[in-house]
This record gives sequence, structure tokens and C-alpha cells, in this order.
Amino acid sequence: MKVFLKTLYGKISAIFLILLLILGSVQIFVSVTSSVNYVCEASQKLHYSVAENLARKFQNVIHDSLEFSQLQEEFAELLMLNPRAEVYLLDHHGAVLKAFNDSHTLKRNQVNLTPVMRFLDEDSYKSFPIKGDDPISDSRKKVFSAAELILPNGMPGYIYVILPSARFELASDGILNSYILSTSAFALSVTLIFAIIIGLVLFFLLTKRLHAMTGAVKNFELGKYDMRIDIGSEDEVGELGRAFNNMADTIEQYVSALEKNDHLRRELIANVSHDLRSPLASIQGYLETILMKNEVLSSSERKNFLELSLKNVINLNKLVHELFELSKLDARQTEPEMEPFSIAELIQDVVLKFQPESERRKIHLITRLPVNLPFVRGDIGMIERVLSNLIENALHFTPKEGRITIGLERIDKNIRISVSDTGEGIPEEDLPHIFDRFYRVEKSRSRNSGGSGLGLAIACKMVRLHKSELQVSSRLRSGSTFSFSLPTHQMEMEYASQD
Ligand code: ADP
Repeated sequence: MKVFLKTLYGKISAIFLILLLILGSVQIFVSVTSSVNYVCEASQKLHYSVAENLARKFQNVIHDSLEFSQLQEEFAELLMLNPRAEVYLLDHHGAVLKAFNDSHTLKRNQVNLTPVMRFLDEDSYKSFPIKGDDPISDSRKKVFSAAELILPNGMPGYIYVILPSARFELASDGILNSYILSTSAFALSVTLIFAIIIGLVLFFLLTKRLHAMTGAVKNFELGKYDMRIDIGSEDEVGELGRAFNNMADTIEQYVSALEKNDHLRRELIANVSHDLRSPLASIQGYLETILMKNEVLSSSERKNFLELSLKNVINLNKLVHELFELSKLDARQTEPEMEPFSIAELIQDVVLKFQPESERRKIHLITRLPVNLPFVRGDIGMIERVLSNLIENALHFTPKEGRITIGLERIDKNIRISVSDTGEGIPEEDLPHIFDRFYRVEKSRSRNSGGSGLGLAIACKMVRLHKSELQVSSRLRSGSTFSFSLPTHQMEMEYASQD
């Protein structure tokens, strides 16, 4: 029971039952009181002239002295009609001069005359039932009939008849069991029972949804992040369910982002340690060989080992540098320093840098730069880094006699920069991943052949800092095109003036 009362359903049901009990009691009290009052009123109206008749008869026999023996006959008649009627003769102060029904002992000798005066008032009918003091009780009040007469001393007196309809007698007479009362009590009980059953069922249905919600929240707490609540109807409980579902969506997104980040972090550590270990192991191997076989090694062999070691050190240095660059970009420590510059000139400079390499590899490095292009706005250092990476990759993946074309194109208020090659291309399934750090299409490609898998990740982040996206389109054995856009200087100026 205690446990039941601790539940919301238990509490609501208990409060509901208590309320119904109070309401029922009030209803019964009001019905009984009004029934009793109604009977009292009816009795008083019915017996309104009893006292008046008696007073008339009394007046005829009262002359010089109070001679009550002659009244016994009238009194016996009244008692026959109304055996419980009690008749009193009062003086003008309300003092009881005579009690005609001596089966009771008097508890008070004085009756308050105010209700008697009200009864005798012309309009008294309207305020029935009027209750007056009952001389055989200390405190009880009863309905009565009263009439005025003149006593032998010339002073007014009153015939005061207590009627047998007072509340206590009515109760003992079984008025509470009267037809009307028992019918209304029955109707009330049926209504209450119905209200209780319907109320309990409704509360159960209402709290059932809350139970389902609690279950969902508990499951969510245990890690079932896909748990959602069936909203059902659009009431407050439904609203709560919707709010929970929205919250669950957000948490699920955060959790999956955290899991993804954690996965990336582990992968990063694994990749970094792998990429550091292999060149370090090679360097260690070459140096140990030189030390151990110093005497037997020819000078060209020694030079070869040293050159290989140096190449590994350069690659290591590049890897560490790129990692540092990427972590700074991740931590948003690198902010682009925006300035206007000629993108065509920058491309020419970068192409010049790669000219010897392209000639060595017999690859045609072509530029398609329209004249009179406006300046773009961006961080020159970053854009140069992006272009270098794209051209370096293109050179790496394009065979002899292939072509690398660097083009510029004006699109609205932007300039699109593209680097296309006629190289081996990228398989479709790898395209979505090539901007991920450490991702290489050729998994076996080692540091020795160059390429840490970080170049495109860095380029992509740098382009994003310029509010653009690095895009790629590629066909296997046909070539690839990487492109991004930069805003023209005028457009930036227009934006600035609008602000
Ligand atoms: P890496 O430094 O290893 O080249 P990147 O991040 O620059 O790393 O490139 C990721 C991968 O994308 C490369 O390993 C390569 O497989 C593929 N890739 C990039 N550019 C090209 C290209 N122009 N042609 C073919 N594949 C490319």
C-alpha cells in the first residue's frame, strides 16, 4: 500500500477518492439538513393555528384566575391528534406558567420570546421554519406554534406548542430512511461509484503513458540511445514526450560525434605511430649498418645509405610539420590573414616552382589564366599551400607525357581555381574519403614514395577557412580535377559596405 501511494497513480487516486468522499459527505449533509428543514417547515405550516385554537378555548375559560382543570378536555383532544405535542402557557416575559404535558420534567422555566414574536408577526410564513426554546431541554430548539391571550391579571400571555417535528425526533422517526432520502442516497452512491471507476481508469491510462516514458528514459540511461517515446496525443504528456525525443536526438548526435572523434583520435595515434616508426626504423637500420660495416663499405655505398637516411629524415620532418599544421587548424589557432591579391600571379609563381620537377617527369604543366581578372581576397600563404599540394599530387599521379592544367574561371562574383590532370584518377568508392586525414587510395604507398595522407586534409581545412569547399571529380584512368572558389576583392568590398 505504501509503495502504491508513492506512485503518481496512487497519489492522484488517493486525492481523488478523498475529494469524492468529502463531496459525498457534504452532499449527504446538505440533503439531510434540507429534508429535515423542509419537514420542520411543513409541520410548522400544518400546525400553524394549533396554538391559536387552543388560545381561543383557553381565553373562554380563563376569567379571574388560572383554572386549568377545565382545559383538560381540550388538552386530551389535542393529545389524541398529536400525542407528542407539548403545550405550555407563558407569561409576557416568557416564564412557563403551566406545562400541560407532565410526562417530561422541565429543564428551563423561561422561554425566549423573540422567536415567538417572529412567529406572531404577519409575514412569519415566509421565514418558516422558526425554532424556539424547548422547555424540556437545556439547549434544544424546536418548531412550535404560538398564540397570544390575555391572562386574568390583564397582562398578555402565550400558548406555546412545541411540535413533534424537531430534527431529533425526525431522525428517530426514521426520516433519514425516508423514500426521497434513500433514493437520493442511492443515486449519490451510484454516481460516486461510477465517478470512482471512471476516474481510476482515466488516471491509469494517463499514468500509463508516463510509465512508458519512464521506461524509455531508463533504457536511454542504460545506453539505448535510439530509444524514443510514442507521443500519442498532443497534450502536455505528448509535449513532454516530444521534448524528450528532441533531447534524445541531440544527445544521440553528440554521442555519435564523440564516438567518431574517439575513433578518429585512436586512428590518428595509430597512423602517426606507424608513420613515425617505419622511417625511424629505416634510419636506425642505415646508421647501424654504416657503423658496423664502416670498414667494408665502399664510399658510394656509405653515401647511398646516408642519402636514404636523409630522405627519411626529410619525410619525417614533413610529416611532423604537417601534423603540427593540422592540429593548429583543428584547434583554430590558424586564422587566415585576408588580403587582396592576383590569383593569376600566384599560380604562375607556384607553377614556376614545380617546372623543374614536371620537366624531369616529362609532364606538361599548362596554365589557362584569362586576362583582366579581378583580385581575389584570401590568405596568400594558405592558397599557395593548397595549390602546391594539388599540383604535387597531380604530378605524383600523372604518368609521363600527361597534362596538368591549372585554370581560372570567373563565376559571378567568385573566381574558380581548378587543377586537372590526366593521371590515374581516383576510384569512386575512395572519393568521399580522400579528404580524411591519413587516407591514401593506395594503402601500400609508404612514406618513402612520399605522401602522408595529410595533404588534402590540410588543403580542405584551409579552403574552408575561406568559406569555400574543395571539390573533386575524377574518372579512373582519365584523370582528376580539384577545384575551389575565392571571392573577388570587389565582392568583399560590397559586403563590407553593406555591413
Ligand atoms: P598524400 O600526401 O598521400 O598525397 P593527400 O591527402 O594529398 O595525401 O591525398 C590523399 C590521397 O588521395 C592520395 O594518397 C591519393 O591516393 C589520392 N589523390 C590525391 N590527389 C590525387 C590525384 N591528383 N590523382 C589521383 N589520386 C589522388
